Amino acid sequence: MYDIGIIGAGVAGSYLAYLLKNKKNNIKDKKIIVFEKSPKIKLKDSGIVSTAIEKFFDKKTIKKLIDKKIRTAEIVSPSRKIIKIKTKKPFVYVLKRKKFAKFLRSKIKIKYETVEEVKIYDNFSLVKTDKDKYFIKVLVGADGANSITRKAITNKKPKMYFGIFTKSLKNKEKKIFLNKLYSPDFIAWSIFGEYGLVTGFSPKKNYSYFLAEQNVKPKKIYAGLIPTGLIKTRRNNCILIGDAACQVKPITGGGIIYSLTAAAIAHKVILSCFALGDFSGLKNYEREWHKKLKKEIRAGLLVRKVYRQMSNNEIDDFFDEFGPDIEQAAPVIENNYDNLSKLIWKMPKLKLIKFILKHWRKII
Ligand SMILES: Cc1cc2nc3c(=O)[nH]c(=O)nc-3n(C[C@H](O)[C@H](O)[C@H](O)COP(=O)(O)OP(=O)(O)OC[C@H]3O[C@@H](n4cnc5c(N)ncnc54)[C@H](O)[C@@H]3O)c2cc1C
Repeated sequence: MYDIGIIGAGVAGSYLAYLLKNKKNNIKDKKIIVFEKSPKIKLKDSGIVSTAIEKFFDKKTIKKLIDKKIRTAEIVSPSRKIIKIKTKKPFVYVLKRKKFAKFLRSKIKIKYETVEEVKIYDNFSLVKTDKDKYFIKVLVGADGANSITRKAITNKKPKMYFGIFTKSLKNKEKKIFLNKLYSPDFIAWSIFGEYGLVTGFSPKKNYSYFLAEQNVKPKKIYAGLIPTGLIKTRRNNCILIGDAACQVKPITGGGIIYSLTAAAIAHKVILSCFALGDFSGLKNYEREWHKKLKKEIRAGLLVRKVYRQMSNNEIDDFFDEFGPDIEQAAPVIENNYDNLSKLIWKMPKLKLIKFILKHWRKII
């Protein structure tokens, strides 16, 4: 019998375990277990995060983990029109991604076992791994896009996208492509020699075309799933965090900051449940993370819905119409890379209303 169990030692699970380990927590006598199926740390993603990462770690750690800082980028249309983004201070950092994962795991104790089944009862959960069975008072599913814990909480399946990237020769290019031939419903990027895209359609076909257009011959390709949508994230004493909970930004597919945010919320709620001895308080987890992230996820899903139905010609028209306004409003991104929908409200209202009216069929 364990007090707290976490399935998955990715960003979300490791960070939660790291917070729970803090001696100031007053749960020293509680037994905590972290399950992880993969001892090897693989390169998981591009590691592009907003400067909000500074809220989660001290200055020294941040300095060690940041590879690059970005304050300029270009958004490229299908016919190569360009919107230039420029901010005074960096608006995103590129993390040393493997080092970041290693750092998080080095701070916690991990049981390398694969969870094969999760059963949720009124006051505890049963976790069956490839080696043993565990009874757990509070269970946290941080087991990523294909979460086994999620299946025990809800039947609703998130919409899955494929993320693919390769590392090519290093260059200084920082481009985001909006082009239906690269990705019919998401974005493609070329950032410091990394070429990637996210799509819900034929990833192989789109990616080959994108790489050919960029003149890149990949040596090694990395790929993963990106879940999006809004799903139930708690049942009885079991909650979900990170990709398992679809806490991902629908506009960029980024989930690191949202995972850290959700882990921090889960940490507070779990501590208060143990302090009060009342685990019905876990319902506050869902309420709290909704308060912080749900509005932006909803807005992002709406933007994606419209974008998915736009043609390449319409994207080019959008660049003509809104390009100068976006360039002017770009400084807003400096502190809002995790809330990109804020940029929309900086657009001239009349133009925005005209755009919404023109595309209203795509929105409803
Ligand atoms: C191609 C690509 C590029 C991306 N780029 C970015 C980016 O630039 N910036 C950004 O913010 N986000 C990015 N993301 C998203 C980001 O990777 C995720 O949002 C983030 O890693 C989520 O962390 P997590 O801890 O929830 O899940 P994960 O990192 O997937 O961790 C889940 C962990 O659970 C373990 N696990 C799973 N099942 C079991 C089981 N049954 N038993 C035991 N252990 C299990 C896994 O081995 C894994 O270690 C990208 C994603 C992809 C696919």
